[in-house]
Amino acid sequence: MKLIGMLGGMSWESTLEYYRLINERVKAKLGGLHSARCLISSIDFQPVAEMMRQDDWEGIARVLGCESERLKRAGAEFAVICTNTMHLLVKEIEEASGLEVLQIGEAVAKEILKADIGRVGLLGTRFTMEKSYYGETLGRYGVDLLVPSEMERDVVDRVIFEELCKGLFKEESRKTYIDIISRLQARGAEGIILGCTEIPLLIKQSDVAIPVFDTTFIHATAAADYSMA
Ligand code: GLU
Repeated sequence: MKLIGMLGGMSWESTLEYYRLINERVKAKLGGLHSARCLISSIDFQPVAEMMRQDDWEGIARVLGCESERLKRAGAEFAVICTNTMHLLVKEIEEASGLEVLQIGEAVAKEILKADIGRVGLLGTRFTMEKSYYGETLGRYGVDLLVPSEMERDVVDRVIFEELCKGLFKEESRKTYIDIISRLQARGAEGIILGCTEIPLLIKQSDVAIPVFDTTFIHATAAADYSMA
C-alpha cells in the first residue's frame, strides 16, 4: 500500500471522518486486520480560518506548503487535502512538497459522470462557492455548476464556520440547507455536491430528493483505492 499523507484539521471534525472512511474502505477490500497506511498532519484551524477571513491566501499557502513538505519528508507517497476549500491552493501545495495531490474535485467529477448528470448545485464555504476551483474542474468533465444566491451563500458559509466546524448540528440549519437545495433543484440542478467536508455530517441522501455527492466519502474512498492500487 502507498503511504497516504493527509493534510487535516480543517476541521478535525471531518478529518476524523476521513480517517474512519479510509480505514473502512481498506478493511472492506483487503479484509482480515488490514488497515490504512497513512500520516495525518493536523493543523490548528483557528489561525488559518483568520487568514481566510483576511483573504491571506499566500499565508495559508505557506502553512499548507510547509505541512505537505513535512509529510513528504516523513515518507508520504501522495497527498490528500481533507477539505474542499483548500483545493484552491492545490498547485502551491504540490509545488511546495513535490507530492502528487489526489484532488477532491476530480474524484467528485468522476462520480457525477457515473451518475450521468450534467448539471449540479454546489454547497460549500463562500470560497468554494465563489472561487473557480469547482467550476474549472467540473468544466473539464463537461458538467455545469449552479451556486446558491448571495444571501443563501452567506447562510451556508456561516453555518459551516459557526456550527459544523465546531461539531454543532442543528435541526434548524438542516432545514435551511434542505430549502436551499430545493431552490437549486428548481433552477435545474440534477444533483447536489456537498462541497464542504463537514456538510455530510448534517445532510444525508435521505434528506434530499436528487442525488447528493458526499465529497468526504468520495474523496476518502478514492484515497484508499489509490493507496491500494
Ligand atoms: N472543511 C471545509 C471544506 O471542505 C471547510 C473548512 C475549510 O475552509 O477548509 O471546505
